[in-house]
Amino acid sequence: MAMLLKAKEAAEQLHADIRTRAEEWKRNGIRPVLATILVEGDPASAYYARSKERAAEKLGIAFRLHAFPDSVTEEELLSVIAGLNADAAVHGIMLELPLPRHLSAAAIEAAIAPVKDIDGVTPANKLAIYTGDDSGLFPATPQACIALLKHYGYALEGRNVALIGRGQTVGLPLFHLLQKEHATVNVCHSRTPDLASQLARAEFAIVAVGKPNTVTRDMVHRGLVVVDAGINELEDGSICGDAAGDLSEALAAVSPVPGGVGTLTTAILFRNLMKAMDLQHQAAIKGAVNR
Ligand code: NAP
Repeated sequence: MAMLLKAKEAAEQLHADIRTRAEEWKRNGIRPVLATILVEGDPASAYYARSKERAAEKLGIAFRLHAFPDSVTEEELLSVIAGLNADAAVHGIMLELPLPRHLSAAAIEAAIAPVKDIDGVTPANKLAIYTGDDSGLFPATPQACIALLKHYGYALEGRNVALIGRGQTVGLPLFHLLQKEHATVNVCHSRTPDLASQLARAEFAIVAVGKPNTVTRDMVHRGLVVVDAGINELEDGSICGDAAGDLSEALAAVSPVPGGVGTLTTAILFRNLMKAMDLQHQAAIKGAVNR
């Protein structure tokens, strides 16, 4: 049987560290604040906002929900973001996706101040990940994929990784983070004709596609470790990943969905909030020195 790479323990360790850091800020008179912008209408974005609110509460972090009807205009959202950027009491800003069709996620995300951009979606933070600049804020899910492997003691340096999916949210930023780990990465996508032959050479496969059964039993081998970042909602309302459910006897290890990458993603988002607070604090000190 394959080892199940569950994320609960790694997430709890991160939570303990975040709680300690949040307490330190509070002792210094600053309450960490995460602001989330939600455009109502899509159950997925409302679900993500609620789960962040629950996590924030457990971590002693204040959560501010800015909810709008689906008739809201881009100008209105840009003005809300400008207000949150200027508000020193707000340390992290997130835009819940998906948005209604008349709104451009890229344009709205680009307006977030890079030091408050805790999911690494602004052009400045994308540049930081491409150039390996560690002062950037990087997207949570790609970080979670690597953190999960590290938690189980896997080293990626020099290893063959098949990265399936090159999307803006997960695959593409993950490619750059894997470069920082010195992995040898083979990027597969919708035009890759034969996934099985790519996986035959891989020691690790990370799947971020958004389609159930992208990786099936006939494609894997006993030495393979699979990290499944996919989240797919089935007709009966249940959630599954991109890897088929019957892989466990055919490979070395696999991360479950739910209970894997997604569980660690939320924790890493709040770790990013702590990093964002450090960056804002450093910028404030620099500003005071240069004044
Ligand atoms: P995306 O932007 O839609 O990208 C999907 C990628 O999959 C594309 O690169 C596409 O190739 C590739 N692809 C499509 N069909 C394929 C196939 N049959 N074989 C190989 N590759 C294929 O997706 P995303 O936003 O990055 O998200 C990916 C998955 O991660 C989704 O399931 C999403 O729900 C999940 N996700 C999870 C979390 C979490 O917290 N765990 C967070 C965010 C997203 P092309 O580039 O050629 O089109």
